[in-house]
Amino acid sequence: MGMNQNPITCDMCKSKEETIAHFFSECEMAVEVWGKVKHWWGLNNKELKTVEDVFSWLEAEAHSKEQKLALISIGIATLCGLWRNGNEATFKNCSKKAEDIFVQIQREYFLWIDSRANRVEIDRNFLVNLVDHEGSVSG
Ligand SMILES: [Zn+2]
Repeated sequence: MGMNQNPITCDMCKSKEETIAHFFSECEMAVEVWGKVKHWWGLNNKELKTVEDVFSWLEAEAHSKEQKLALISIGIATLCGLWRNGNEATFKNCSKKAEDIFVQIQREYFLWIDSRANRVEIDRNFLVNLVDHEGSVSG
């Protein structure tokens, strides 16, 4: 496992040093994607520097066990989406738009709900209803 000796330019925004913090929270791409996720679920803002930050934030935002599972899955999908896009930007030199990444996150979330709900018998309608609250976000 090599250590990076020199600052690496982020391939998504082409401007800043690529660090974990940049990747998950500081990059304008990440900020835009998280903004969409926050609006979708009506989440409060939180500074996200690490993966642990993401999950402790999502757990704190959850109001029930079911919602916690839902938010954790959103967090996983979002981190994976950002990570995947960063890799594509690096290796294929094509970076998606934040909206495209967000649509992909939503798609993965619903796929996750399908499989997870069958396994642990979560009330799927409950989760779908939560998602329907997208439009009623204030602040
Ligand atoms: Zn960046």
